[in-house]
Amino acid sequence: TEIEALRERRKIPEHIRRLLLANAFCHNCGTTEFAPGYTLRMRHGCVLIEGCCAKCGAEVARLCD
Ligand SMILES: [Zn+2]
Repeated sequence: TEIEALRERRKIPEHIRRLLLANAFCHNCGTTEFAPGYTLRMRHGCVLIEGCCAKCGAEVARLCD
């Protein structure tokens, strides 16, 4: 749910979040940033970010532990 997603998001330290958001990989642009509106999830102890490329709008996802 939305509430659970927000709660999970707060568990991720700010500096790690910034690092992840600035290191997305887009198949069109290579290394890019996430556009606003991304979602963060915890999955099997890893952080999964799903969102869109800030440059071209393609879907990008990043999994990081
Ligand atoms: Zn792109």
